[in-house]
Amino acid sequence: MDAPDVVIAGAGPAGASAAIALAELGHRVVLLDRARFPRHRIGESLPPKVDTLFALLGVSRRIEQAGFVRMAGTTVHQGDHTISHEFDPERGALGYQVDRARFDQLLLDRARETGAEVIEEAHVLDVERGSDGRAVGVQVRHTDGGHESIEVIPGSFFVDATGTSGVLSRALGLRRKESVRTLAISGYFAKSRTPDSFPAPNTLFEMTRTGWIWSVLLADGRRNVTIGVDLGELKSSGKAIDAVYQDRLEESLLVGPLVRGEEPSSPIAAHDATGYTSERYVECGCLLAGDAASFIDPLTSQGVYKAIHSGIHGAAVINTILRRPADAETAIAYYDELQRLAHERYTEVAVGFYRASPFADEPFWQVRSRSELFLEAFSLEEARSRGDRRARFVDLMRKEGGRSLRVAKTAAFTVALRPTIEAGFVVRAPAVVKGRELVLSSDRLNVELLASLIDGRLVADVFEGYLAASSEPRSQETARALTRALGRLYERELITVDHSSRLP
Ligand SMILES: Cc1cc2nc3c(=O)[nH]c(=O)nc-3n(C[C@H](O)[C@H](O)[C@H](O)COP(=O)(O)OP(=O)(O)OC[C@H]3O[C@@H](n4cnc5c(N)ncnc54)[C@H](O)[C@@H]3O)c2cc1C
Repeated sequence: MDAPDVVIAGAGPAGASAAIALAELGHRVVLLDRARFPRHRIGESLPPKVDTLFALLGVSRRIEQAGFVRMAGTTVHQGDHTISHEFDPERGALGYQVDRARFDQLLLDRARETGAEVIEEAHVLDVERGSDGRAVGVQVRHTDGGHESIEVIPGSFFVDATGTSGVLSRALGLRRKESVRTLAISGYFAKSRTPDSFPAPNTLFEMTRTGWIWSVLLADGRRNVTIGVDLGELKSSGKAIDAVYQDRLEESLLVGPLVRGEEPSSPIAAHDATGYTSERYVECGCLLAGDAASFIDPLTSQGVYKAIHSGIHGAAVINTILRRPADAETAIAYYDELQRLAHERYTEVAVGFYRASPFADEPFWQVRSRSELFLEAFSLEEARSRGDRRARFVDLMRKEGGRSLRVAKTAAFTVALRPTIEAGFVVRAPAVVKGRELVLSSDRLNVELLASLIDGRLVADVFEGYLAASSEPRSQETARALTRALGRLYERELITVDHSSRLP
């Protein structure tokens, strides 16, 4: 057979998404996984924003037909009270609780359909490098019906999507330091009680003195109950994981009562839930996607979204490197920045959660809200004030409306050329930046046009002017995209909003 253009190791959400996007761009793709699908995987809770990625992958209808549980939000128990939050109370956007065996199979089927060659039970062992250090092939062990063989599969480019194994990332020495070590212990209960004070499909989080408890309900009625513990503390206690699991459920006030008296229907399993990131995300002809690039705290429930996002964007980066080599450097810098920022943002979310704990002074919580890696990644105070400003903008829009608010640029508002994705390639396009930070890219909106309209006009006139001059449809979606864009500019202090000039 001809050598494939791209060899992808790992067929979870990151690998399958990269395969779909690359095959659709016309590349010959080989997708390898050591497992035979369907295979179980933890990580079932997906946020509503994942719908945009499903549309890009061409799986929206299949996802709808799959009948996964839909949930409106989360229920959190901290200390002595329980609060339920909706993702989007205004529009009622819903997330998903997916059975990962079925969900990952669905993406894999789509990868096959788009033309990727999928090889299961193909365990990637190592990377083969040429004299210049670039990857030229991967060494694979096939186990077909118990029969083993070793093969080197050559390619022009490689993707490490092997999740936390990070087989190529480790071989290339790219994995960066880890944060404090967390172990997640999970069990599935075939039967559970229906809560009466919050919606059963919600993702449940419970903060206890010594860790967290997380739970989701799947469409077949199983309830996943996972506890997060400090690995060091677990080891020094000398207790078996089953005993620790039972003890924590006994103490639990939110999740425990739903499964009390029931036994897990399958053996409980331990998962390393320790965060890490990578030094670089594209190196020596290999791109890291999903968990192979970085692992974010499971409490964020964003790992699958991040994995799919990196697969789709990584595909455009590889497409650019292979077909427009002159733009390779821009494409690599773009992906590096994208992955670094994603890791920082989700870390920000996780630290916010740990800091909000009523047990913030207890070692489990303290160390996770002050970890060196977390502090290095972002400034919490800055993140908080950003959130406040965004909330103020949304509030203003709601109360005042676009006919009584004027928007104008501040001195920090700059439009510069920054990399973005257009038609499967990384290109340089106008973006709003604040210093080095990319605030608004031209992914969805014509940034130059929007910037030209923010000159002291009423928000409603900005919208009208934009719709008249751009090719965007006059739809709710465009209005929302414009509102989000203005909110983001306000949050980053790039525009001022004046609501004193109310019209009669
Ligand atoms: C306790 C816990 C709870 C979580 N909860 C959530 C949640 O609620 N929501 C959420 O979005 N995320 C959650 N996550 C994270 C989520 O599971 C991952 O971020 C997501 O699965 C990453 O997708 P991926 O494609 O990068 O890797 P994976 O899904 O891990 O897929 C990697 C694939 O690579 C294959 N592979 C591994 N090594 C090799 C090899 N050497 N050769 C060939 N194939 C190989 C594996 O078989 C696997 O199919 C959770 C994680 C944990 C640990």
